[in-house]
Amino acid sequence: MPKCPKCDKEVYFAERVTSLGKDWHRPCLKCEKCGKTLTSGGHAEHEGKPYCNHPCYAAMFGPKGTLPTHGP
Ligand SMILES: [Zn+2]
Ligand SMILES: [Zn+2]
Repeated sequence: MPKCPKCDKEVYFAERVTSLGKDWHRPCLKCEKCGKTLTSGGHAEHEGKPYCNHPCYAAMFGPKGTLPTHGP
């Protein structure tokens, strides 16, 4: 039984979603920054963690180079 990389608990088939080459609980596959639920293959990734493409990934790692002034 694969373990969810987010909560480290076993993932059963019925609640499994595969993304970034790992098996996640459906509710565990969400943006690390804003908490938005993500769909398999429909999101960005940074250092193995899932982020939504927009606005989070674009804001933090996008090509514009203009980071938001708030946050860490
Ligand atoms: Zn989980
Ligand atoms: Zn986000």
